[in-house]
Amino acid sequence: MTEHSVLSPPAGESSPPTRLMLIGGDWVAAADGGWREITSPARRGSVIARVPRGNATDVDRAVAAAREAFPAWRDLHFKERQRVLLRIADALEGRAEELARVTAEDTGNALRTQARPEASLLVDLFRYFGGVAGEVKGTTLPAGATQLQYTRQEPLGVVGAILPWNSPLMIAGFKVPAALAAGNTIVLKAAEDAPLSILLMAEICEESLPPGVLNVVTGTGRAAGNALVEHPGVDKISFTGSTEVGRGIAGKAGERLAHLSLELGGKNPSIVFPGAVTDELIEGLVLSSRISRQGQSCTAGSRLFLHRDVHDEVLARLSDRLGSMRVGDPLDEASDIGAVINETQFGSIREYLEDGLADPALHVETGGLPPTSGPLAEGFYHVPTLFSGGDNSFRLAREEIFGPVVVAIAWDDVDDVVGMANDTAYGLGAYVWCHDIDLAITTAHRLEAGWVQVNQGGGQVVGQSYGGYKQSGIGREVSLEGMIAGFTQTKQVNVRLGSTVTPAPRTGP
Ligand code: NAD
Repeated sequence: MTEHSVLSPPAGESSPPTRLMLIGGDWVAAADGGWREITSPARRGSVIARVPRGNATDVDRAVAAAREAFPAWRDLHFKERQRVLLRIADALEGRAEELARVTAEDTGNALRTQARPEASLLVDLFRYFGGVAGEVKGTTLPAGATQLQYTRQEPLGVVGAILPWNSPLMIAGFKVPAALAAGNTIVLKAAEDAPLSILLMAEICEESLPPGVLNVVTGTGRAAGNALVEHPGVDKISFTGSTEVGRGIAGKAGERLAHLSLELGGKNPSIVFPGAVTDELIEGLVLSSRISRQGQSCTAGSRLFLHRDVHDEVLARLSDRLGSMRVGDPLDEASDIGAVINETQFGSIREYLEDGLADPALHVETGGLPPTSGPLAEGFYHVPTLFSGGDNSFRLAREEIFGPVVVAIAWDDVDDVVGMANDTAYGLGAYVWCHDIDLAITTAHRLEAGWVQVNQGGGQVVGQSYGGYKQSGIGREVSLEGMIAGFTQTKQVNVRLGSTVTPAPRTGP
């Protein structure tokens, strides 16, 4: 046990830093002494840190700490929790550049285009949920002069939050401040490949939080993640990750009737209507495709439906723009696009590309297989790839590739394109690009997705609702309404007024 989150190597040794987990206010190694090496996506095989390989024993300790901390945290006046969250927001802001650099190092997300905005959104989310902490309000029923009938929104208890690796700080920002503002305590399981920014975030939070209110466990999904899902002391599982893993977690959480929310995968349509092909449209399509995040985003508009009137022009201009984007070292300010998280993802994206390249119906407008020589071959770098000639039944148009790959599909009729857009098991995001605002909005209303953007393609903003339809998820947490729906439960209290029950005699002075 140590007061510090980092164990330095012995003097004279240059081994990478060893980071510890946060349990009950202490920085600890795994109970069984296991470690896991964290490697750089930008330099194959290069170890940047080691973290504890937490397992069921560590999860058990963390849940016990969170349970112990819960009553006092729950019972605070909201102003106290608000003060703490706002203090954390300021502290995170003061160290935002450090958070961004650590994100770039362990996720491979480019510093300028991705990691910095993620750190800044984290700050905004702490500030937002701190600000609305007093809005966790109940209702009163007008039940007559002799009744007081009201509801309280009470916290759920201990929240087990499980994070993916693609944008850890942003997703922690969707869960941690919301759960804390509502009075819950947390055990956070960082993604095995990208835990470093989360440990740094925890270090900053811990300076302002009572021990045990936020605990962070590192380790694999199979050991630490599963132990959290199955732990009877965890009242809610808040999971963000793949649909496949989410389905398994839902089964286990359902078996013990734990509260659950799931933010899962997507295969999001982006529909371009006829009209002027402007620079703004092309920039919007680049943003919505999440190419600067290596396409590793659940809201990536990776199925690009182009009306035949603008099909060729959009393809030509978009492929020029994608081809001009600079792929490189995530820490280099000049890089627009960084590296893919790990070898498995790198290989999986390459397989999709090989599939597309082997298909005579598909045409590569830009990109293709990753470079096999030069500096980019030293890391897990893919280049932006745009296929045309696709149809909605192609594997590349149906499965979540989670790489910088977009498939363009031509369309002629609005009903057909809405049908194709909705013909997917997913329902997370969607984009509509249309100068006729009436048509744009009626189309948005017809799409089976939890989040539709019209004529813009940026990321989530604080305060908005966020979550999936169909197999993209269950529940909402991000927004004031999401915080109340996702991190509280309703208690109805009915009081008879003017009761003739004689109060018990008071003792003492
Ligand atoms: P993943 O499902 O493999 O892992 C997510 C987390 O779950 C990790 O922390 C992992 O350790 C843990 N985990 C794995 N198996 C587990 C188990 N059996 N029990 C408990 N925990 C387990 O996902 P990933 O590869 O890290 O992330 C990519 C996926 O996440 C993509 O499908 C993407 O679309 C999705 N995602 C969704 C959103 C959203 O908001 N909807 C956001 C980001 C990522």
